[in-house]
Amino acid sequence: MTIDEKVRKTLTELGVLDAAGVEALFAEVRSAMEQERSNLVSRGAASEAEREKLSKALRDRWLARKNGLLSKIDDQWLKTAAKDLKPFVGRNFNALRQESAALEVSALMQVVPLGLHVAIREESSFSDSASADVGHVTREVPQDPTLPGNRRPLGSLHPVTQIQREIEEIFLQLGFRIEGGPEIESVYYNFDALNIPESHPSRDDWDTFYVNSRTVLRTHTSPVQIRAMEKYGAPLYIIIPGKCYRHDNPDASHSPMFHQIEGLAIDTDITFADLKGTLDFFAKKLFGERIRTRFQPSFFPFTEPSGEVAISCIFCGGKGCRVCKESGWIEVMGCGMVHPQVLRNGGIDPEEYSGWAFGLGVDRFAMMKYDINDIQLFFQSDARFLEQFSA
Ligand SMILES: [Zn+2]
Repeated sequence: MTIDEKVRKTLTELGVLDAAGVEALFAEVRSAMEQERSNLVSRGAASEAEREKLSKALRDRWLARKNGLLSKIDDQWLKTAAKDLKPFVGRNFNALRQESAALEVSALMQVVPLGLHVAIREESSFSDSASADVGHVTREVPQDPTLPGNRRPLGSLHPVTQIQREIEEIFLQLGFRIEGGPEIESVYYNFDALNIPESHPSRDDWDTFYVNSRTVLRTHTSPVQIRAMEKYGAPLYIIIPGKCYRHDNPDASHSPMFHQIEGLAIDTDITFADLKGTLDFFAKKLFGERIRTRFQPSFFPFTEPSGEVAISCIFCGGKGCRVCKESGWIEVMGCGMVHPQVLRNGGIDPEEYSGWAFGLGVDRFAMMKYDINDIQLFFQSDARFLEQFSA
C-alpha cells in the first residue's frame, strides 16, 4: 500500500493499534517525504520556471490545506485516533510538520538547460577520447547537496601533553595547584634568586640562550618557585609545568626545547620524609604499585640537602636490562629541601617555614611510559608517529 493509499484510511483500518505501530507508520511517512525531496533536488530543472513549478507541486502535494498529505493525516489518523494513542499520534504529527519545512527546495535545485544535460553525459562517457568535442561544455555536473560531506580527521592531544596532564592530575589530587610563569625570564629569577650567583659553575653547566645580558630563555621551571613565593607567600603547594630551553644539540636524548614539571611544597614542619613519601606515592600512581623509589645524595644550588630519585626499572622490574644499563634503576628526577637562602629570596622566613622541591623532565617520562628511544620524534610533527597516541 502506498503512502497515498494509507492516508485515506484510519489507524484502526490500517491495523495500527499501539504506540510502536504509530512510530513505525510515521517513520515510513517521513522517509517517503525525504525521498521525494531528495529526488527532486538531484533531478534539477531545465529552467527557472520549471524549477518553481516542480517545487510548488511538491509543496502542494504534502502541505496543501485541502487534500495535502499532511491534512489527510490530520483528518484520518490524528482526529480519529483512539484516546490512548492520541498523544503519540499528536507528537509524531507535530514532528512531521516541522520536518516538512525541508520541502522548500527551490533554492537547492540547480537550473541546467536541458541540452547541457545531454552534452555533459556525452562528455563524461567519452572523457578520455581525444575526438570528443567538448569545447562548449563549461558547467560542472550538478552536485547532489544531499550527499554526505567530506570528513576532516580529528586531532588528539600530543603524547607529551597527555603525560603532563596525568602528572598534574596526581598532584591536583594531593591538593597542589598548577602555577605558570614566563618562558622569557630575567637573569635574576632564572639564576640569582635561586642561589646561583654569576661565579657559580652551574651557570656554565647549562648552555643558556641569552636574549640580552639581563634576559634569558628560562633554563628550568624553577624561577616560578620564586615568583609564586612572592605572589602567595607560605604555605604553598604548587606544581609548575612548562617549556624550558638550553643550547643543546638535538640528538636522541636532547632537544633545545623540552618540558619540565617542578613541584614545590612550603609549610611549617616540612621534612625530607614528606618529600620521600610524596614522590614515592607519585611514582607508584604513575607507573604502578610495584615501583620502588631510591634516593641518592646529589647537589643543586637551590636545595640543601639535594637528592636524585631513581625508580625501579619499569621495563625489567629491577632485574637489569639494556634500558637501565643492567642496574635495575632509572634516575628520573632531582629533588631536595629548599635552600634557606632561596626561601629568603622569595620573602619567606626560613626560621618559620621549610619546604621541598623536585624537577622532572616530562619528555623523558613520556619516552619511558611509551618506550620511545628518540626525543626528536615528539617534535617532528609526523602524523604517523603522533596518531599512535590518539585516545
Ligand atoms: Zn631494566
